[in-house]
Amino acid sequence: MSKLTGHRAVITGGGTGIGLACARSLAAQGAQVIIMGRDLVRLEAAAQTIPGAQAIQLDVTDADSVTAAFAKAAAGGAIDILVNNAGIVGAAAFHRTSMEEWQRIQAVNVEGLVRCTQAVIGPMMKSAYGRIVNIASIAGLRGGAYIAPYVASKHAVVGLTKSLSIEYAGTAVTFNAVCPGYVETAIVDNSVANIMAKTGRSREDALSELTKTNPQGRLIQPEEVAETVAWLCSPLSGSVSGQAITISGGAI
Ligand code: NAP
Repeated sequence: MSKLTGHRAVITGGGTGIGLACARSLAAQGAQVIIMGRDLVRLEAAAQTIPGAQAIQLDVTDADSVTAAFAKAAAGGAIDILVNNAGIVGAAAFHRTSMEEWQRIQAVNVEGLVRCTQAVIGPMMKSAYGRIVNIASIAGLRGGAYIAPYVASKHAVVGLTKSLSIEYAGTAVTFNAVCPGYVETAIVDNSVANIMAKTGRSREDALSELTKTNPQGRLIQPEEVAETVAWLCSPLSGSVSGQAITISGGAI
């Protein structure tokens, strides 16, 4: 029997990038995984590559969508692992950032994460097992130019993680955040394209702007993040709570 046999895990944004790697990793440990996101076609294609996986449509910015998605997931059995991974980024000078853009990022990265956590915490806090892992960022631990809304949102995620770990310390639920540096996913592809468009630099030069922030001088792979997430979800990590674990090649 594997470490997570008998456990059911929801991964938001589980059809791509870090979320998909987390789903694969948790399933490899024996968990039944439910991947959620807006693009159902992409989710279903991803679910077919993971034994026993279920795909459910979810928009974390829509309260009714969150209620419906988690009710559908819970109909198959209790959810005892939640990986809050859905997230977006935007890059612009702060003085040119509209309030709409600010709110667009907070709506997914903060309010969406709060909604999904509230959707599971009631039953989970009464259960004998619970793991909530939030995918934050090193941007949740330090500042960065041109990404103030993203940095603020990820600081909120780290703060929320620490607060909930204390508030629910009397239950079996642990709350942790992982804080990756630049990971090789669509978000980084878009960032490279953005740097190229705004500065006229080559792809190689644009990429080096990102890799130089990692002392190891490289992009991190989604599977490296997923490995830490799977450990945080495992039975013997039960005393690890309220942590923000960097996966950044030594940055910070
Ligand atoms: P990604 O492939 O773009 O993943 C983002 C996921 O979020 C997608 O699967 C997307 O699915 C989902 N999503 C976005 N808006 C949503 C919404 N309103 N409702 C539900 N799902 C939504 O990029 P990624 O790099 O793997 O990002 C995953 C997480 O890692 C994010 O929280 C990001 O901030 C964090 N992170 C990334 C890096 C990096 O360098 N890549 C570094 C640190 C932290 P749909 O489009 O189908 O909804």
